Parts: sequence; C-alpha cells; structure tokens
Amino acid sequence: MLPNGDRPMWSPLSTTLIHGHNDAVLVDPPFTSDQAHAVGDWVQASNKNLTHIFATHGHGDHWFTAGMLAERFGAQIIATPGSIAQMHRNVAMREAVWDKLFPGQIPETTVTAVPTENNRIELEGRPLDVVEVGHTDTDAASVLHVPDLDLVVAGDAVYNGVHLYLAESAGGGRAKWRSAIDIVETLNPRWIVAGHKNKDLDDTATRAISQTREYLDSADELLSQHTTALDFFNAMLERYPDRLNPGALWIGATALYR
Ligand SMILES: [Zn+2]
Repeated sequence: MLPNGDRPMWSPLSTTLIHGHNDAVLVDPPFTSDQAHAVGDWVQASNKNLTHIFATHGHGDHWFTAGMLAERFGAQIIATPGSIAQMHRNVAMREAVWDKLFPGQIPETTVTAVPTENNRIELEGRPLDVVEVGHTDTDAASVLHVPDLDLVVAGDAVYNGVHLYLAESAGGGRAKWRSAIDIVETLNPRWIVAGHKNKDLDDTATRAISQTREYLDSADELLSQHTTALDFFNAMLERYPDRLNPGALWIGATALYR
C-alpha cells in the first residue's frame, strides 16, 4: 500500500504506431507479454507492414516486448547507442527489479536493437528523426520527431497527466531533464505523445511541455521545504491531485530521501 492508501500500480504506457500507405513504425513497444499480444493485434488490424520498432530509452517498460513484436512482424529494432547501453543495464536488473514486480509476465529480453544511420528512420521516404535529449527520467533518452505530422513521440521526456518518475533525478537530474524539454520545444511540435499519459487528456504539445516543467519546478521547491519522503509526497499530491499513479511519485520520494 502507498501512504495515501492507494494500491501500487504501474503508470499507463503509450505505444505509438506511425504509418504511411503501406508501412508503419511502432514507437515504445510495451512491457508485458499480454500487452504485446494486444499491441500486436492492433498493428495487425492496421494491415500495415511494420518495418521498424523504435525505443525512446532503456527503461524496460518501454521496450521489453520489442523482441516479441519484432519477431511477429519481421521488424528491425532501433535505439540510440546510449539507450542500447541502458537496455543492457535494465536487462541486468531484470531479476532484482522487473521480475519481482511482474513475475512471469515479461518475455525474453535479449537486446537486439541497433542504432540507425544518421539518426533517421525512413517511412515510405519520409523522415522520422531520432533526437537525443540526454537525461530525462533516466539517462541517454531520445525522442522521435515526425516533421510531417508536427509530432514528437517523447517517451519520458514529457509526461501528460501522470506523476513523474523522479527516482533517477538526484544530482542535477531535474536540471538536465529541463534541458531535454527545451530540446523537444525547439522541434516546435504541435502534438506530443507522452510515454506516460492519461488517455483522457489530449496531446497538445504546449500544455504537456509547460505542465512537465511546472511539475519539475514544484519538485525542486517542495524538496527544499520538506525533510521526509512522506511530507514531500503529501505536498506534491496536494498540488497534483489529478495526476495518475501516485506510486511513481512515492518511488521517487523514497529514492530522493534515502
Ligand atoms: Zn517510463
């Protein structure tokens, strides 16, 4: 149980399918086998030929089923070299962390992702640009910019209506995260698909960017005011009563006050 009485849960995850007339690219495949079956059926129902699967960063919940889906559709898995290093780190933590949380639900997770040439994936001749943004809620993150759609698929650089995962933000991480958001903003997207979003909210880029910044500012402010994880947690919850998954906030709070 969390201090506020909530049952621990995982943050909602976004998986994005970008397609042309025939081909498609999947961004941030999900976490568990069940989710991958559902996403796979969704891709199949689109009748598109899945050429690539792109993972924005190394956190297992954003790519652990990439191999399963790549095999089903004959797609190639793409990530930046930095994210690939983080993928190996997450595989090394599987037993201690991920399998404890979701026993028996995560498929085989050999890292088969490769970097793409010139940080670009082509979809029927149109560019999908891989943009490295550095530290977000973890190290070596990236986003996928789709200029034709005024879209950024932002992974964990920008959240939308979900509590931010701050556990890896000690030692300047929140300042680096702000720089990552600045990079996303320079791409001037109209739409942002956040890796963790409340599905009842829209994907307006300006709102998601400003609200993610504001949350980081609040975290800095309230971390300086409170001496215990519980007080910080309660103060953030009071300020953001509508964001989903206070559990993510609690994990961050306990990590930052450890
Ligand atoms: Zn995430």
